[in-house]
Amino acid sequence: MTLLPESADMITLAASYVAGKWGGGTGEQFAVTSPATGERIGAVGAAGAGDVDAAVAAAGTALVSSPWRDFSPAERAAALSRLADALTARKGELADLMTAEIGSPRKWSTFGQVLTAVGALRAYAAITPDYPFESTRPSATGGTVTVSQLPVGVVGAIIPWNTPLFIAALKLGPALSAGCTVVLKPSPDAPLSIGVLTKAIEEAGLPDGVVNLVNGGTATGAALMSHPAVDKISFTGSTTVGAQIAAACGSQIRRCSTELGGKSAAIVLPDAALESTVSGLVGGVMGNNGQLCAALTRIILPHSRYDEFTTALTTAVAGLSVGDPADRSTDIGPLINESARDRVEGFLQRARGEGATILTGGECLTGPGWFVTPAVVAATNDMEIAREEVFGPVAVVITYDDAQGDSAAVSIANDSKYGLVGAVWSADGDRAAAVASRLRVGSVAVNSTAVLDFGSPFGGFKQSGIGREGGPEGIAGFVEYQAVIR
Ligand code: NAD
Repeated sequence: MTLLPESADMITLAASYVAGKWGGGTGEQFAVTSPATGERIGAVGAAGAGDVDAAVAAAGTALVSSPWRDFSPAERAAALSRLADALTARKGELADLMTAEIGSPRKWSTFGQVLTAVGALRAYAAITPDYPFESTRPSATGGTVTVSQLPVGVVGAIIPWNTPLFIAALKLGPALSAGCTVVLKPSPDAPLSIGVLTKAIEEAGLPDGVVNLVNGGTATGAALMSHPAVDKISFTGSTTVGAQIAAACGSQIRRCSTELGGKSAAIVLPDAALESTVSGLVGGVMGNNGQLCAALTRIILPHSRYDEFTTALTTAVAGLSVGDPADRSTDIGPLINESARDRVEGFLQRARGEGATILTGGECLTGPGWFVTPAVVAATNDMEIAREEVFGPVAVVITYDDAQGDSAAVSIANDSKYGLVGAVWSADGDRAAAVASRLRVGSVAVNSTAVLDFGSPFGGFKQSGIGREGGPEGIAGFVEYQAVIR
């Protein structure tokens, strides 16, 4: 993290929000820079271990004290609705901010970054009043047993930079629905939108201490993750960090859920319509400049139509406009920072070395900003570019022998260490749904890129993580079951 001079004139944010008060910090600040220009746009206080202690203590107090302890499910749902309303009122401000701090194209950021978060909160507001937090049934020994789903406790919510508001909402929704309290830890690359979320939490009138915030990087996250009074860590980020967090939580029997990386497949069946499928594929892989966990980065094409689809996809990708993300005609903005740009460049170089063909794009533009032109790469599924998460605007096309039937495509799609999402395109919806059910992934879209439904569980198989957020199933990760037997 870069340290800033004290006189820096830009958006400033305190190190922490604890028990309803902004403040804290070690005295150090870190810079938030525009990925499009490299200019500093924000200065954020760095929270130290003492701030994490205070935030966890505030969350612990709010958990067991009135008024939050006594909120009914309907009252918790009303609080979630008020938070969704407060975010909606700040929709334009938030979309502008995430275009500035993340480089999300402005024409995408209202829906992709803001309305997704609002949708997740509203879905939980709808689910919560009727969720079976308590049920009574005959016991196996002849009496009755009341099974309660009690809040798991204080939740440490660790958030990545790419879709920070939505990921925060996917954690706040089920956590608050269940009656938990939360300490949020955003990424130092995108803390400003979570600062606005925290202001919306104030405006929504949540009791003090129910949601707290600590800003900082790895050290702050590690202090939160290892704090003895945190009952559960809900982590979203890279598979590498997720593995470290899961191991550390495991050693302390601390509850932990992980939403991690992906290398998701889009299967095109031989009868798919060309134009609508290609248009869907472009959005599915290039959204947020290719920096989405659920990006459909492996496009699996039937041999009988490979040339036709590859040509149309390459033409469409080559036609995307690259540039200032604030310009509403821009399709592709910058990558988040220099190391992300260098990482994508390295993947493309190694792909060439392995024999892949770059059909279009893949050029690093000279600065300012960290721009890579959107690429289509013809590869085979054993190459690194088809196996690792690139996290940039890179579509990999892979062919399957459709004379062998749909199973040939399913085998390639499932041949991955990841299993987050998938998509299947076909003129026959039932055929596509049958293929979808054979994918070892958490959610699959049929004839669209809508791999995520706000009221449904979201999460991964294999190294894409453990646990689900979203929908009633997402609440299960934020409760402990208690049986009272009479
Ligand atoms: P990251 O793993 O580098 O960081 C994620 C968060 O963890 C940040 O807040 C970071 O400060 C914190 N952190 C880093 N090291 C830590 C440690 N040792 N202890 C505690 N906290 C630590 O990920 P990123 O670069 O911010 O995000 C991109 C990744 O997130 C991609 O791999 C993407 O696929 C993934 N992602 C997954 C989902 C999903 O739902 N599956 C959603 C969005 C992003």
